[in-house]
Amino acid sequence: MCCRLEFGMKASGMRMVTRSWSREPGAGPRGIGEEAAPLGRGEAAAEGRKSHRPVKRQRKAQSLNVAYEVSDGEKGEGTELLKVPSWEPQDWQQQLANIRSMRSGKDAPVDQLGAEHCYDPSAPPKVQRYQVLLSLMLSSQTKDQVTAGAMQRLRARGLTVDSILQTDDSTLGTLIYPVGFWRNKVKYIKQTSAILQQRYGGDIPASVAELVALPGVGPKMAHLAMAVAWGTVSGIAVDTHVHRIANRLKWTKKVTKSPEETRRALEEWLPRNLWSEINGLLVGFGQQTCLPVRPRCQACLNQAMCPAAQRL
Ligand code: SF4
Repeated sequence: MCCRLEFGMKASGMRMVTRSWSREPGAGPRGIGEEAAPLGRGEAAAEGRKSHRPVKRQRKAQSLNVAYEVSDGEKGEGTELLKVPSWEPQDWQQQLANIRSMRSGKDAPVDQLGAEHCYDPSAPPKVQRYQVLLSLMLSSQTKDQVTAGAMQRLRARGLTVDSILQTDDSTLGTLIYPVGFWRNKVKYIKQTSAILQQRYGGDIPASVAELVALPGVGPKMAHLAMAVAWGTVSGIAVDTHVHRIANRLKWTKKVTKSPEETRRALEEWLPRNLWSEINGLLVGFGQQTCLPVRPRCQACLNQAMCPAAQRL
């Protein structure tokens, strides 16, 4: 799962290194922000915060994960750029350059079927954002192709908060099958959609803290939703590919046991202007080369400098 993140930053004129490898130089803008021109980063965030934050029954701060109360990304651009890490992995810049080179074809499943490709660009902005969140919820433990198919079936019926709430569980299950854990996802999608309707006017919240408070929404999804739907880099989105590759390359100071631990470890040293790029880059690399089982080390440009390289 990945995202293309340029739109919000472009709209706000912010300097940011994004997935330039995913766009052709000079290509026209693409993504939610372009269809919703007023929803640049600042405006999008403002809209979410002004209009869609709950005015009643606000969650108490202590009920939220402290790690997400104010993310580094939400503190503002620039602060992390000044941070000098006390540690960084050996050879990481060359390894990153090699991965960019191996990914230059942009032909991994994530490049065509990621969350930024699953929403209807002609829908109203808040519907687009809802569709982004829904595709992210469907994507966990699911191949990109399967998620894209489920989104296609849902969108064919008009995919909005209201349409989902009017769809019975059995029909919804049929539409999203065979995504992983589809029964649980039916339940979470219904619960989350009800919350979005009641508390956010049918939009999605514009903070990681509020996103992870939604049923079935984890940190990786929240960071990707912030990036794709709101144009805000709130943190590194770490899934199993990013988690695995970061450990193989020893991009974490010590072995990490979960994607969340990996996210924190990466954010300690990886320059913030690379945070948005890293998910899509490594996900595609994990899909094509650094496979979970029997990685294609013989074809990997990092073989000579990879601690986990299989040199058979
Ligand atoms: S050498 Fe093998 S394990 Fe190391 S990054 Fe490349 S594919 Fe992955």
